[in-house]
Amino acid sequence: MKIQANNLKRQYDLHADEYAKKATEVLSSGWYILGKEVEEFEKEFAGYVGANHCVGLASGLDALQIAFRLIGIKEGDEVIVSSNAYIACVMGITMNGGTPVFVEPDEYDNIDATKIEEKITPKTKAILAVHLYGQACDMTTICDVAHKYGLKVIEDCAQSHGTTWKGQMVGSVGDIGCFSFYPTKGLGAFGDGGALTCKDKEDADNARMIRNYGSAVRYQNELVGMNSRLDELQAGLLRVKLQYIDEFNKERERIAAYYNENIHNPLIRPLMTRPGSNNVWHQYVIHSPKRDELIKFLNSKEIGNIIHYPIPPHLSNAYKYLGYHEGSFPIAEQYANEVLSIPMYNGITKEEQDYVIAALNSFKG
Ligand SMILES: *Cc1c(COP(=O)(O)O)cnc(C)c1O
Repeated sequence: MKIQANNLKRQYDLHADEYAKKATEVLSSGWYILGKEVEEFEKEFAGYVGANHCVGLASGLDALQIAFRLIGIKEGDEVIVSSNAYIACVMGITMNGGTPVFVEPDEYDNIDATKIEEKITPKTKAILAVHLYGQACDMTTICDVAHKYGLKVIEDCAQSHGTTWKGQMVGSVGDIGCFSFYPTKGLGAFGDGGALTCKDKEDADNARMIRNYGSAVRYQNELVGMNSRLDELQAGLLRVKLQYIDEFNKERERIAAYYNENIHNPLIRPLMTRPGSNNVWHQYVIHSPKRDELIKFLNSKEIGNIIHYPIPPHLSNAYKYLGYHEGSFPIAEQYANEVLSIPMYNGITKEEQDYVIAALNSFKG
């Protein structure tokens, strides 16, 4: 049996007619950028997240870049971020001239919030909480530290649409939430897309200007902006999907529960979920000391698998200039050598899951 690591068509097929209807509606409207669909989506998504405002953007990376610009990150400022974050998280900081200060992850594969305080210097301006793989960081400790030192809290929710921390939706806990609608994400568009959510109207107004050449009134430019607009077609299609996101998340929870119950192999440790958070299982991640052998084994059985992520940001060529080396962040480096994402997507069948489980349980290293 051949099983892909991810199969987006399964989810698409469930509501294919509704997407086609909406796409035709937008295409035949004659209006394609910044119109009614984006406006409605922003309202609906802000409502879903429980944030005061939402601004639709072109990507998750743009959301991060704009969020750090809104809070005034510039050359010389430091931002705390987990050492096992996705590279885009770090780019959002450095594109504004800021310096990432890495804190190692804990046993839940997200930032160890108890180690943040020791990294704070007079240059520290913000903490980026990356809710990796679908579960929340310890937002209580993060917000407490931020409050004590007067720091802003930015949330990277690109993998956690619908995740809650102590009942509150991520993206509404910190000052600004950053979302990606890249097709594989929990709320995935049919192309690129992103958004930020925020509490302050001024932040939302400024983000709206930044995404449109720094202009609120056409041809009057208040600042040097970007072109980072969510388009009408993507916004319309996201509105269709948003109606089903809780269903999609619940289904992935069931899939994960079935894996959790049935994967039994001393060489494989599934991801643990932090008490206080739920998990929308953006990925089903396992740790294995024999990860590379496991990849070969799964490949031989035609079971798709992906490493999220093989090179921690501090060891990437892009961030050589920060001067880190192998051994700088041993936990992140160990995780990069241990983690593997196995097939997890809406519409995976029990038969497919059983095949994956049997393979994992028969793996001898
Ligand atoms: C996908 C992702 C991003 C970047 O989003 P794009 O829309 O691809 O730019 C940022 N952070 C995390 C954690 C992500 O998973």
